[in-house]
Amino acid sequence: AMGKRVCIVGSGNWGSAIAKLAGLNAATNPLFEKNVNMWVYEEMVEGRKLTEIINQDHENVKYLPGVKLPENVIAVPELVDAAKDADLFIFVIPHQFIARTVATMKGHVKEGAAAISLIKGINITDSGLGLISDEIREALGIDVSVLMGANIANEVARDQFCESTVGGFGENAKTFKALFQRPTFRVSISEDPKTVELCGALKNIVACGAGFCDGLGLGDNTKAAIIRLGLMEMMDFCKVFLSEGEVKNQTFMESCGVADLITTCYGGRNRKVSEAFAKTGKSLDELEKEMLNGQKLQGCVLKTLAQLITFSKRVEKGPETARELQGVLTNKKISPERFPLFTSVFKCCYEGAPVADFLKALENHPAHG
Ligand code: NAD
Ligand code: 13P
Repeated sequence: AMGKRVCIVGSGNWGSAIAKLAGLNAATNPLFEKNVNMWVYEEMVEGRKLTEIINQDHENVKYLPGVKLPENVIAVPELVDAAKDADLFIFVIPHQFIARTVATMKGHVKEGAAAISLIKGINITDSGLGLISDEIREALGIDVSVLMGANIANEVARDQFCESTVGGFGENAKTFKALFQRPTFRVSISEDPKTVELCGALKNIVACGAGFCDGLGLGDNTKAAIIRLGLMEMMDFCKVFLSEGEVKNQTFMESCGVADLITTCYGGRNRKVSEAFAKTGKSLDELEKEMLNGQKLQGCVLKTLAQLITFSKRVEKGPETARELQGVLTNKKISPERFPLFTSVFKCCYEGAPVADFLKALENHPAHG
């Protein structure tokens, strides 16, 4: 039988790191076809096309400098060409680009193909919260698993030991595990994929709180409290948004849960930029441009969630949707008092609340009884 053909949709910091792992495995495991396509959103880097740089020098010099990619990873500038005949899709782009990307792919995806989303984000929909995996599944009509974990791309790409979690079921979950697992990248399968995915999105909010803590010059006890209270809110939020029975507590103990939260609160981009935000008072958009060289903050996650939590005051879809949403949220007992850390991060990031007051909101946290 022919090996499964892999297409990576995305080629940023994490996209390039995962291309290294998948490329190495595809080169040796007969389950996969050797050559792996990687869709690259084309741009010029020092006078050359990024796709040409990757195909000739085998390095993504802009988004993952200093790391050699396997030669069987082929950069392709046209999404439809990259997707042609693929059996397995890896979605790994900043979540603000997913809608346009799946719209382009529609009608160009082989029947029976399967996908996995590595995107740590969230959508707002008419009925409230939307998982990115659902958006891909609905647009393309294919099965979608997720991969989330304590996986800072620059460390994974340098083969530093870590763990990760595939959320999914059956053969597809096993196939993706085989595609990613390496001696230094240990993958577990969880059959609680929605919680796995929500963990990846929600930890971004807590990471901003951790950055504020650093920006305010506070120490490790405070950071630990932020991480713990953040975890409590993540668990509570998952249980409110998914049906209670659907959420397994064990999932928060996996790499996608507590481990990703810890690494993000120490080493992530959200933490770094939030520290600078606390120190300089510049906007997050401005700091993203200044500090990340084209990489993206998953800050819209924040905005989206905050819209939900603050009763969607500024949902941009118009008053009708806003009213519907408010109904959903009231029914689900979402209130700022129930999620003081999430709400306080939002107020500092987007409503001009002073970062110096960030921790005040935690003094009466429901987790303290
Ligand atoms: P990134 O932050 O490096 O983003 C830059 C990428 O976005 C580049 O490839 C760029 O070409 C692309 N891009 C810019 N404009 C675009 C457009 N209009 N359409 C399509 N693409 C465009 O990306 P990343 O780090 O690979 O992150 C992708 C996802 O993976 C995110 O959801 C992130 O949360 C998640 N993630 C990242 C890491 C990490 O350490 N970087 C780890 C785990 C998960
Ligand atoms: P940042 O996007 O905050 O860098 O987090 C990276 C990550 O998801 C680590 O697992």
